Amino acid sequence: MQTPVPVYRPPPAARVGLLSEHRPNPVANCNTMTSLLSTTIAGSLPKPRWLSTPDQIWADWLAEGELLDEARRDAVRLAVADQQAAGLDVITDGEQTRQHFVTTFIEGLDGVDSDNRADVTIRQRYEASVPRVVGPVSRSRGVYVEDAKFLRSLTEQPIKYQLPGPMTMADTLADDFYGDREQLAMVFAEILNEEAKELEMAGVDLIQFDEPAFNVFLDDVAGWGIEALERAAEGLSVTTAVHICYGYGIKANIEWKRSLGDEWRQYEATFPVLAESSIDQISIEVANSNVPLELLDMLGDKEVLAGVIDVATDTVETPERVAETIRAVLEHVAPEKVFPCTNCGMVPLSRPVAQAKMTALADGAAIVRDEMAEVF
Ligand code: ZN
Repeated sequence: MQTPVPVYRPPPAARVGLLSEHRPNPVANCNTMTSLLSTTIAGSLPKPRWLSTPDQIWADWLAEGELLDEARRDAVRLAVADQQAAGLDVITDGEQTRQHFVTTFIEGLDGVDSDNRADVTIRQRYEASVPRVVGPVSRSRGVYVEDAKFLRSLTEQPIKYQLPGPMTMADTLADDFYGDREQLAMVFAEILNEEAKELEMAGVDLIQFDEPAFNVFLDDVAGWGIEALERAAEGLSVTTAVHICYGYGIKANIEWKRSLGDEWRQYEATFPVLAESSIDQISIEVANSNVPLELLDMLGDKEVLAGVIDVATDTVETPERVAETIRAVLEHVAPEKVFPCTNCGMVPLSRPVAQAKMTALADGAAIVRDEMAEVF
């Protein structure tokens, strides 16, 4: 007797953004199984050499004025084409229009002095030159809304947009006005919510909040961080995600990871809080990390953007290695809730390495998808 073919039921279309009614999804139309293990990157890609100095975070732009606007849009076109060439399912703009994932957003707000920057210690680990908050913070215009509309115009595939999380924002500035990190984070949460709602109107399918600070200020996550994050995501009908990582592959982060021992249990403090939250997807590090995978059992029914690509090394994973990591995650998370992803942003890598890693990501997911199709 033949095994009956189970019907794969994707989550509600509007929430996942993968099967939107208002436009065709070329991926889903080819084969219903491709909705499983949809791939995407955490967010950033390296920038072309004509746009900014490579291998740097916070690199200066190499153009200005209208030329810079045109250059950034051309870079977005390339980032989209590179992800499509790799075979990824959910597309980002590779963060080509922002200098940094946190400070560029802060600099788009009123009440901020970007010219007289301050050197502060962020994430309790490294010095950074950051903008100052000098008065009440507000948002008089969209920060990324026009960029998101441009990204929407480039592809029919689902698109994801990243925003900094409120706690990470409050940790990546010099506060000369509020004097209270929680209060400032709540102000940012309101502002992020306005921005996120306009991104949704612009046709973005998934909105991700980047909260690496959740891995550092563990007590504050339950204290007020989760409340601020949920406020930022309140009322959105698109899929929401939070990215919590151990940072880019820069020296300070690599040394920090070495100090964490054989088992990294930071997620143990945050996963129960996130499991109870309104956020749909949790983006975490798995590849080459010392995170015990049984911690994933604490995420309840959340969807997992599983980091199966290590961004802290130039060594490119083989598709088989990616497949192994995905299989390990599948020991703890149901297949329809696993979304293979990179551990973190790839902005510090070279473009060829980032391209090869994206291809390995898509190919590795395809291996496991094929195995699952055989089982079904
Ligand atoms: Zn990250």
